[in-house]
Amino acid sequence: MSRFYIGVDIGGTEVKTALVDENDKAVFAQNIPTESEKGYVHTINMIANQIKGLLDENNVSISMVNSIGIGIPGLTDGKSKIYKAPNISWVDIDISTEMDRHFPNTKVFIANDASVAALAEHHFGAIKGAKNAVMITLGTGVGGGVIINDKLYSGTNGIASEIGHLIVGENFYNCNCGNNGCLETYCSATAIIKYAQRLFVDSPCSKIIEMTDSKPENITAKLIFDAYKEKDLMAKIIVKRFVTYLSIGIINLMNVYDPEVFVIGGGVSKAYDLFIDELEKEVDERLTFKNAPRGKIVKAKLGNDAGAIGAAMLGLYI
Ligand SMILES: [Zn+2]
Repeated sequence: MSRFYIGVDIGGTEVKTALVDENDKAVFAQNIPTESEKGYVHTINMIANQIKGLLDENNVSISMVNSIGIGIPGLTDGKSKIYKAPNISWVDIDISTEMDRHFPNTKVFIANDASVAALAEHHFGAIKGAKNAVMITLGTGVGGGVIINDKLYSGTNGIASEIGHLIVGENFYNCNCGNNGCLETYCSATAIIKYAQRLFVDSPCSKIIEMTDSKPENITAKLIFDAYKEKDLMAKIIVKRFVTYLSIGIINLMNVYDPEVFVIGGGVSKAYDLFIDELEKEVDERLTFKNAPRGKIVKAKLGNDAGAIGAAMLGLYI
């Protein structure tokens, strides 16, 4: 009997669910709103209905499903519990127990969203074939996924891939986690915007002033990279800072994990071609062991579907 894997990607606003067969062919359910403000039981009930509908539409019975994997926008224990998912305001939730009420005989795995994106890239995408790899997702926050010996590595307590909270400097604002100097506060889209807003008043000649109609609240990470393309000085300063701290993060990860490859994903990676040369240069300058080979840096290949497909892969990688 053929086997199937279900993947659920819980995002801040929408939930995407995929049914993947053993030949890696995926079909998707219609996205549903997360509605996290109604509480996690509500969202899980909706997800269970979404899964049941997807199975019915494809004539697959739940007994043919190997496992259900769920990607969470937050910190998990890598088994069943969400410690904290700030974007959806869920704290200390045992998600597997809730799923068990709907699917008592099916294994459920959870992991953070960057980890499941890493699994999709490892199975189909930019890091396919790499035994050891680290994914860095640069989005609203900074996330990470670590693959060691072809398995997802989450550590003893599930926090091993929280690379957005590597402390890499002293910053002018604190991270959501409460610490100061986290990688996320230098290299996320949010960080780029915050730093640009800080420079805004002192850069009257910047193209960014014109591009935002003089309104700092109109700044986006994309706008900064657009101005960088136009060789705007303020944008150069902002991108230089982003690259510097990203290279420091990569050096730290290299010295701990020594992966074959780093894969960069998330919304900010759309500007990959604009910053990769500078990033390679700064990584090389900071190498601890200059005469040893180092892991290469590549861009993520998969788009929005990677979360749900990667979550489905949890059953293979844990
Ligand atoms: Zn932090």
